[in-house]
Amino acid sequence: MTKRIGILGGTFNPVHVGHLLAARRAQEALRLDQVLFLPCNRPALKSHESLWPAAFRLKLLWAALKGQPGFSVEDLELKRGGVSYTVETLEALRSRYRGADFFFLLGTDAALDLPRWKRADDLKSLARLVVLTRPGAQFPVPGSRLIKRFGLQMLQIPSLEVSSTEIRNRLKQGHPIAWMVPRAVEGILLKACGSKSPVIK
Ligand code: ATP
Repeated sequence: MTKRIGILGGTFNPVHVGHLLAARRAQEALRLDQVLFLPCNRPALKSHESLWPAAFRLKLLWAALKGQPGFSVEDLELKRGGVSYTVETLEALRSRYRGADFFFLLGTDAALDLPRWKRADDLKSLARLVVLTRPGAQFPVPGSRLIKRFGLQMLQIPSLEVSSTEIRNRLKQGHPIAWMVPRAVEGILLKACGSKSPVIK
C-alpha cells in the first residue's frame, strides 16, 4: 500500500504542544502512517536573531517525540546547512521515499506566506499542502486565490493558542511554561535557563 507521510516543517524554537496536537490531529484526519517533524536550519522568511542552535532545537524535538508512535524527527535541513528551502527538501524526500504520498502541513500563518516561498508554484506537485487552523491568523477564505493557486486542503483542528515566541518570552521573564511544552522539554529548558546557558539568556 502507498505510504502516507506528513511533514511538519518549522523552526521548533522550541517545539510546543501546539505542534504536537496539530500533528496528531492531521495524522488522524489524513490517515498518515508517519509524521516527520522537520526543523529548518535557517528560515528564509523569519528573523533568525533569536534562533537557538540547531543541536539544541533538535535535542528538544527528540525529547518531545520520545515514545510518540508515528512521529519522528527528520534532520535533513540541518545537515544540509544554509537557508532551508522546502521545495529542495521535498525533492530530496521524494527520492528517498519513492512512491509515497506526501502531505506538507502548515499553520494558517505559514500558509498565508506561501506566495513568498522559493519556487512556490512547484510545491503542489511535490506534496499535498494541508493548512491547519491556528489562532490569531485568518483562515484563507474558501474559494480564495491562495487556495486555488496552491490546491490547499483545509483542516480544522482544536485551537491551542501557544507559540514558540511566547515560550521564549516567558523564559526570559522567568515565568512558568508548564503545559505549553511536554514535561521533558520543560525540564531541558528550565535547566538551560538555570545554568545561564547562552542558548536561552
Ligand atoms: P514562532 O513563534 O517562533 O514564530 P511557531 O510557534 O510559529 O514559532 P514554528 O516552529 O515556526 O512555531 O511552527 C511550525 C509549523 O507549525 C508552522 O506551520 C506553524 O504555523 C505551525 N504551528 C505552530 N504553532 C501552532 C499552533 N499552536 N497551532 C497550529 N499550528 C501551529
